[in-house]
Amino acid sequence: MSLQNKVVVIMGASSGIGAATAKLLASKGAKVTIAARRMNRLEEIKQANPDSDILAVEADVTKAKEVQNVVDQTVAKFGRVDAFYNNAGIMPVNNLDQIAQDEWQNMLDINVKGVLNGIAAALPVMKKQKSGHIITTSSVLGYEVLPGYAAYSGTKYAVRAIMEGLRQEEHQNNIKTTIIAPGSVKTELFDSINNEEVRNGLKDAMKQPGAEMMALDPEEIAQAVAFVIDTPKNMAVNEMVIRPTGQE
Ligand code: NDP
Repeated sequence: MSLQNKVVVIMGASSGIGAATAKLLASKGAKVTIAARRMNRLEEIKQANPDSDILAVEADVTKAKEVQNVVDQTVAKFGRVDAFYNNAGIMPVNNLDQIAQDEWQNMLDINVKGVLNGIAAALPVMKKQKSGHIITTSSVLGYEVLPGYAAYSGTKYAVRAIMEGLRQEEHQNNIKTTIIAPGSVKTELFDSINNEEVRNGLKDAMKQPGAEMMALDPEEIAQAVAFVIDTPKNMAVNEMVIRPTGQE
């Protein structure tokens, strides 16, 4: 089966990597459900791609019922779910001594519980279909830790562990798993940094000469996601680490 007519659900599809993936998959003939909290952004994607089969559903990944509704609406409209992409995430960079407990809670809810909510909604449908593919965006910071990124890294290590467990439990049931682990990508992710000094510092660094070369475009990650979804039945790409060539 090629991407044509594949049914793909993308959580966190209103901007960045998720939006780019939705546009690419839809342009290749996939039926795509796009979900996030900013419904206006989802509608813009739908309107900009009038010839594509796109379903937009408002959902907060921290709310299991809303994620379940995304899957239910997808099955009602398209009949099945071939791939479910857990991509929603935030990155509120801060040192641990800032004791940002609300921020930690929110990040754990979105980056980790959100992924579990996605698995909870998609897995029963895939087990019934006897086929499926669950994809989750981790990060290079799911393999290494940097000062300021400890809590974020913790969430990205956690989703790698969850996805590896899912692989071990479900590989015999014809369910593929993929961890997408990008390095630096030019998206709105820095806007989720609450610490103004850190946010402005990182944004300024991105504007320095040469910095352009140090970050990928979200469309480049989208190509990787399209590739892993378009693999033959007997082939599962379980992890893909994608850095800009110049990134350390
Ligand atoms: P963006 O900020 O552009 O996209 C984040 C997406 O997550 C948006 O669509 C946002 O939608 C969604 N989101 C956030 N919170 C929620 C929520 N509670 N419920 C539903 N959706 C939510 O950044 P990226 O495209 O960069 O981020 C995508 C993923 O890639 C994240 O998991 C991030 O950690 C990861 N990543 C990014 C890297 C980078 O350098 N950019 C590097 C490595 C990993 P909305 O606000 O409308 O709900």
